[in-house]
Amino acid sequence: MLKTTEYKAYTAGNFRLIPQIQKLPEFLIREMELVAQVLPFKSNSYVVNELVDWQNFQNDPIFRLTFPNREMLSDEHFNILRRAIASGVEKSKLKGLVNRIRLELNPHPAGQMELNIPEINGKKLHGIQHKYRETVLFFPSQGQSCHAYCTFCFRWPQFTGMEGMKIASAEAETLTAYLRSHKEVTNLLLTGGDPMVMSASLLDRIISPLLNSDFEHIQTIRIGSKSLSYWPYRFISDRDAADMLHLFEKVSKSGKQLSFMAHFNNPAELKTKAVKQAIKLIRSAGAEIRTQSPILKNINDSANDWASMWRQQVRLGCIPYYMFMGRDTGAKKYFDVSIESAYKIFREAYSKVSGMSRTVRGPVMSASPGKVHILGINEIGGEKFFILQFIQGRDPAWVRKPFFAKYDPAASWLSDLVPAFGKEKFFWQDEFNKLTGIPA
Ligand SMILES: *Cc1c(COP(=O)(O)O)cnc(C)c1O
Ligand code: SF4
Repeated sequence: MLKTTEYKAYTAGNFRLIPQIQKLPEFLIREMELVAQVLPFKSNSYVVNELVDWQNFQNDPIFRLTFPNREMLSDEHFNILRRAIASGVEKSKLKGLVNRIRLELNPHPAGQMELNIPEINGKKLHGIQHKYRETVLFFPSQGQSCHAYCTFCFRWPQFTGMEGMKIASAEAETLTAYLRSHKEVTNLLLTGGDPMVMSASLLDRIISPLLNSDFEHIQTIRIGSKSLSYWPYRFISDRDAADMLHLFEKVSKSGKQLSFMAHFNNPAELKTKAVKQAIKLIRSAGAEIRTQSPILKNINDSANDWASMWRQQVRLGCIPYYMFMGRDTGAKKYFDVSIESAYKIFREAYSKVSGMSRTVRGPVMSASPGKVHILGINEIGGEKFFILQFIQGRDPAWVRKPFFAKYDPAASWLSDLVPAFGKEKFFWQDEFNKLTGIPA
C-alpha cells in the first residue's frame, strides 16, 4: 500500500511554516513574499515534500514551478513595490499599486475574455468558449482553482481575486442547452483552473447528462488537469477518489472517450510512486491520458527534458500531445523561449524518440487566429524564413496551409512575426480581422 500525504495548501500567508523554507535566508523569503503580492501563489504538501529538490532548490524546476522568484517581476515593478512596503504604505494603497502592476502584465492574452463566447437567443453564455468548430470549452464554476498554482500560468488573473479578471464560469444546464443545439461539436473540454478540484458528485452533474441520446454527437469528453502532477492522491486516497474513477468508467462504458489532458512540465513530475499509481488507476477506468506543456525557460528548455518526458509518458501509457509556446502574460519574460530555440529543442527531442512518442505536435502557439504550428526554418535566395501552419484555425479553411514569416531570432510569438518575401499580409489576416474586429 502506498503511503499517502495529507493535502495541505501553502499560500503567501503561511508558506513560512514550511520547514524547508525556514532554512532559507530571510532576504530570499522576503523577495518571494513580495512577488507573491502580484502573482498568485499556492503550493502544497505533495509538491513540497515529494517533488521539489530542496538540496538544489535555486535551480530546481519544480521549485520554480510554484514558488515565486524575484526575477519574475521587472526591476521597475519589484523596486516600486519594495519601496512602498518599506515605507509602510497602508493596505488599501498597496492593493491599488499591486493591481496597477498586474494590469501592466497583459492579464488577458489572445483575447481570452472577449472572444469566442457563444450566444443562445442573443444572450452571451459566459463560462463557455467555442472557437474551433468541433470543440467547446467549459469553465465549470466550482473548478476555477488548482491544487497548486503555476508561476507561468496564463490564467493567473483568475486567482488574484481582482474585479473583472475572472473568466466567467457556468453551470451544467447552460452547457447542455448549448450542446443540444450544436451538433457540429464532437468534443467537450472541461477546463479551469483545474476541474479535478471539484468533487466527483459535482463533476457527475456536468458529465452524466451528456451520456444520454441527445448527445450522440459528443464523442470525447476531455478534462484539462494538472492534478496528476500536483495532487495524484486525488485518484488514490481522496475521500471520493473511487467515485471519480467510477465516473470516468461510466463515460467509457457509455461508448464515449474520456480523455484526460494531463499537464506535465518536467520529467521530475513523472517519477513519484503516487503519480505512477494514479496514471494506472485512471487508465484502468477506461480513460486515455494525453499530455501537454508549454516550453519554458528555467523549467524545461532542453531537448533532454522533453525526450525524457515523452519516453516516460509512453512507458506509463500516456500519449504525448502538444508542446506549446508560452503566452505573453504575467512573468513571460522570465520563461521566454524564442521561436527559433523552441523549434530547435523540439526537433532535437523529437529526433531522439521512437514513433510511439511522435504523436506530439509542436512548438504550437495558441494565438488569437488559431493554433499555429512552427514547422521549420529555411532559406531561399538569401532570405531566411519560418514555415508555419494552422493546426486549428478560427476558420477551418486555414488549417494546414503553409505560410511564411520573416526569420527573426528574437521573435517568441505570432505577433512578433511579419510575412516573408515582401508580402504585406499573411493569407488569413483580412478574414481574421473580419471575424474578430481585431486589426490585422
Ligand atoms: C487548444 C484549443 C482547443 C483544442 O484543440 P485541439 O487541437 O482539438 O486539441 C480548443 N479550443 C481552444 C480555444 C483551444 O485553445
Ligand atoms: S494548473 Fe493550469 S490553470 Fe492551474 S495554475 Fe497551473 S497552468 Fe494555471
